Amino acid sequence: MTITEKDKKYIAGTYNRFPVEIVEGKGSVVRDSSGKEYIDMGSGIGVTSFGIGDDVWKKAVTDQLDRVQHMSNLYYTGPCADLAEKLCERTGMKKVFFSNSGAESNECAIKAARKYAAEKKGSDYSTIITLKNSFHGRTLTTLAATGQEHYHELYNPLTPGFVHVTAGDMHELEIAIRDNKTAGFMIECIQGEGGVIPVDREYVKAARELCAGNDIVFMVDEVQTGNGRTGRLYAYMNYDITPDVISTAKGLSGGLPLGATLLGEKVENVFGYGDHGSTFGGNPIACAAANSILSRIDEKLLDGVRKKEELIRKTLADKPGIEDVSGMGLMIGIKTVKPAADVVKACMEKGVLCLTAKDRVRLLPALNIPEDVLQRALSILLRCCE
Ligand SMILES: *Cc1c(COP(=O)(O)O)cnc(C)c1O
Repeated sequence: MTITEKDKKYIAGTYNRFPVEIVEGKGSVVRDSSGKEYIDMGSGIGVTSFGIGDDVWKKAVTDQLDRVQHMSNLYYTGPCADLAEKLCERTGMKKVFFSNSGAESNECAIKAARKYAAEKKGSDYSTIITLKNSFHGRTLTTLAATGQEHYHELYNPLTPGFVHVTAGDMHELEIAIRDNKTAGFMIECIQGEGGVIPVDREYVKAARELCAGNDIVFMVDEVQTGNGRTGRLYAYMNYDITPDVISTAKGLSGGLPLGATLLGEKVENVFGYGDHGSTFGGNPIACAAANSILSRIDEKLLDGVRKKEELIRKTLADKPGIEDVSGMGLMIGIKTVKPAADVVKACMEKGVLCLTAKDRVRLLPALNIPEDVLQRALSILLRCCE
């Protein structure tokens, strides 16, 4: 059996994969089982922050692999402590809980908000408000948080206590807070799966203030937008706010499963012994990898991300077949005249791997993609859009 045949026979049918078997790669170029090369403009959905098989990243991983690959959370290990210190120092948050995925990092955020509110205001203060068109994960609770009905169908009943409001509508948020005993508010500053749509700056700031005034835990879901993706370490840093909780995953560890929930002053002591846990969370190899990634996301790298955004915007501006470009940094959504799925298919045939998000072509290349490789991918993309 080929890889494809075996996959189709034995793997649950949740993924409608493209007919490509990826076998190896380096940096922003990957190769399939027939030897064909592709420029990777998706980086595993914003995961491989420094590309495939990056040498610095590999050394961090193999050095830790030679020491210890896993211990239970019953013992102290260095990499997770170092990583928590780095994350707190660079965000002003106070404590970190480590898990293994974006959904889990959001689960922890939601638990923190509910426990904080239960202790402070009473256990009936459990409502979590999120935005319509949001995406927060696939577990039953993060699905409930996700403000897109089509993900909910056939999985009901989901975790109760979630209310979805329209992004940009402060009045609706005020009413939701008035009508529901609210524990927390969770927001993606740029809705990723929802179509790479930045949420209005003034709305984010006003919502943040409203939450502060009502002692509601303000949580940013930085699973996709985090770790340098938008040209700042975290996307909220573009919005001139300080959240109470930051959840992140995808690009944090550069290609190993790791989620992190950063707890600010309001909720720093909300969890005590036994209140939450994870067997794999804080795994030494994933954390060593993340330490390496984070130490390389410095001002120079972030400046490069912002410059590459400019390059993308300039290259795509006023070109035939392109209607609009949205997003920030190297998280880009492109509204094309042709259906996005057709453009992505054509790009793949011509050796460029892109993603979609709703009706847009989505680009999430490695943060260190060389400019000439990026240029080559963009000119192929442009040809496929005409
Ligand atoms: C991908 C994503 C998630 C879910 O992350 P998983 O690692 O797949 O659980 C949650 N929130 C946002 C904003 C995401 O983009």
